[in-house]
Amino acid sequence: MSETGFETAFNGRIGDMLDACTACGACFTACPITEAAGVGDADPEMITSGILDIIRQGSGPEASRKWASSCILSGECIKACEYGVNPRFLLAVARVSLAKAAKEPAEQRRAGVESFHKTSQEVKFLSRLQLTDKALERLGQAPSIYHPAHDENTETPDVVFYTGCNVLRTPHIALLCLDIMDMIGVTYRVMGGPSHCCGILQFRTGDLEVSSRIADNTLNKFAETKSGQVLAWCPSCFVQFTENMLPTFERATGKRPFDMTPFIHFLRDNLERLRPFLRTRVEMRVALHRHPGVAGVVEAAEEILRAIPGIELVDLRQPAVGLQSFNLAVLPTYKRDLQLRELEAAREAGVDALAAVYHSDHRELCAHERDWPFRILNILEILGESMGFREEDRYKNLKMMQDVDAIISDCHDLIAQHRLDPAKARSVVIRGMIADQPLPLVGAMPALTTAPPRV
Ligand code: SF4
Ligand code: SF4
Repeated sequence: MSETGFETAFNGRIGDMLDACTACGACFTACPITEAAGVGDADPEMITSGILDIIRQGSGPEASRKWASSCILSGECIKACEYGVNPRFLLAVARVSLAKAAKEPAEQRRAGVESFHKTSQEVKFLSRLQLTDKALERLGQAPSIYHPAHDENTETPDVVFYTGCNVLRTPHIALLCLDIMDMIGVTYRVMGGPSHCCGILQFRTGDLEVSSRIADNTLNKFAETKSGQVLAWCPSCFVQFTENMLPTFERATGKRPFDMTPFIHFLRDNLERLRPFLRTRVEMRVALHRHPGVAGVVEAAEEILRAIPGIELVDLRQPAVGLQSFNLAVLPTYKRDLQLRELEAAREAGVDALAAVYHSDHRELCAHERDWPFRILNILEILGESMGFREEDRYKNLKMMQDVDAIISDCHDLIAQHRLDPAKARSVVIRGMIADQPLPLVGAMPALTTAPPRV
């Protein structure tokens, strides 16, 4: 697909939505973060009509710009629209328009390249500080050392398992996905990492041309497997493909080469295949850390947990907002408050574990296990325990050290095996692991300034 074809199709989709949107404001009214974004008093019709102005002209009222920039992708707006418009997509396009208006094309491209480079470096180093070549290979990552036994599998798999990039920072989660599929007899091809980018980083900087080229390349790799079903781990990749890229690809080419399904939906849909393997009781009171941005994932995760013998699911009655923890970075104080209140609620409820679904939730929460009287787990760890296998959570073990020298020393063998530059590894550990801590660990707690929304 030529880039012109993509842009024409993308603009066509935007035009259709602009025509359909009546600026009724229902999406704004349904949005859970308008207070936290400082636009709670704005007139819904005015603010949504301002979003249309931003898309058409690159500028609009301050309140509309603020709302668009504060979107955490909860998706409540999608349910609220009665005109068939996807307001979350419109807000994404508004952010693209603002980014385009703020920077020259060359600057947008540079920002996208820098962002991609930073993510690639962090993913490369953090995954290699935790995994052997064999495990990297299992996750579809090129081994650091040539491995002659590695053969390209040409059989059509049942599914493509698309990791995205960032789950490779906490690779035990991705490995657990593979363990589960192995156990229930699903064949898969693993794709992901920076070589199978979804293009979101360039999309955010406004560089649609490069973003679409990258996503198109990855789409074609999925299609070449002939599997027809792509399981997405990452909610950010899922939204990027299913709301931005795949419908545009379909409009431009008339083809839809595969369906994309969130991995947790796939597990829930295969619960009857899983059940016979849930042999070990896991006596645990578990609270689920929830994000509703991909419709149905919270409900599917709860159903999976309930199916595990011995699990008691505890509702902490905390707000569930956003696509995953990472997306709340645009509202840092609000995010810290939510995370602190959830930890406090978990302590009060006396749970054994606070379990998250997504990788960014796990990264941001896991080191709190050091300071609170319960474990921080990924739900697949609990599922794995019942099925009789485990993958070591090296990320949490390293992060809880909170000491870069101790971490580097612990990873000494893998640094040598992968021939990593120790100075670079050190700087990635500091900025990509230890500093990835929105709510500081106990002892460095900030004052709370924003009240979280009611449940
Ligand atoms: S996107 Fe839908 S809900 Fe939002 S203003 Fe437009 S028509 Fe109304
Ligand atoms: S996706 Fe969520 S945060 Fe963004 S506008 Fe819609 S409801 Fe608000």
